[in-house]
Amino acid sequence: MKNFTTKAELQQYLAQLKAKGAIIGFVPTMGALHRGHLSLITKAQQQCDVVVCSIFVNPTQFTDPRDLEIYPRPLQDDIKKLELVNCDILFNPGVDEMYVGNEQWHLDIGELEGLLEGKFRPGHYQGVTQIVYKLFNIVKPDVAFFGQKDYQQFMVISRMIKLLNMSVKLVMCPIERESDGLAMSSRNMHLTPDDRQHALILSQTLNDLKLNFDSDKINLLKQEAMSTINNVPGVELAYFEIADGDTLLPANEHTKHIIALVAATVGKIRLIDNVIIKNKD
Ligand code: AMP
Repeated sequence: MKNFTTKAELQQYLAQLKAKGAIIGFVPTMGALHRGHLSLITKAQQQCDVVVCSIFVNPTQFTDPRDLEIYPRPLQDDIKKLELVNCDILFNPGVDEMYVGNEQWHLDIGELEGLLEGKFRPGHYQGVTQIVYKLFNIVKPDVAFFGQKDYQQFMVISRMIKLLNMSVKLVMCPIERESDGLAMSSRNMHLTPDDRQHALILSQTLNDLKLNFDSDKINLLKQEAMSTINNVPGVELAYFEIADGDTLLPANEHTKHIIALVAATVGKIRLIDNVIIKNKD
């Protein structure tokens, strides 16, 4: 695997591959790689000639400085994992390589800015679009792969691509889970054994909702889900929403594309999860 820390070297190397007509796939990450990240790389390998993975813990998307401070950075382990799945290129820049100083950035992402994650993490999606825009400009991928785990992030990036007329195609990859259902996350390693057990309520509640879904009872089902989660010790619910998968506004009995999304702090760790309840067809 080629490993680059500067934009210039990465771009020079990619230019040679692009000149030969290679289709470039891109998987942006913040590292502490797990099976979820690696599934994105595998998907990218199926659709592209060359796969670039980036590892960059982006300071501008963190609303809580402590969260940024404790974010895991096991770079050597990550490199081994990427080599094991035959990733072609790692881009692992430092903060100074990506930012020139105190930069201003604002992109109008409409209602997505203030909904769900946006409401609880003000400025988060500005930081996300700021870094993904920069990374797309450096890598200039044909296809970029993102996880359904961060569903709202996928919507925000889709909107950015439309607004800024970027030519990259986006692919959404399914959520990889532990055998007991917990959605894989780099943050899971910070859960105490008790919190790890308590955290299961999130995926269990989403699953139960999907199994027992009745579009005439959306409000009742939502209330039940919220109280089920609130009853678990150490779990502090931020939101549980049954939403329109195209807008993330609350769903109603006529909504065709429905997704349930949850965010909660378990012990000290903030976790998110979601499940698609109903697709458009
Ligand atoms: P992160 O390192 O958390 O920024 O995530 C990098 C990419 O991996 C994002 O597109 C995430 O949505 C995706 N991802 C994170 N966790 C999972 C998971 N459990 N399954 C699939 N994709 C994931």
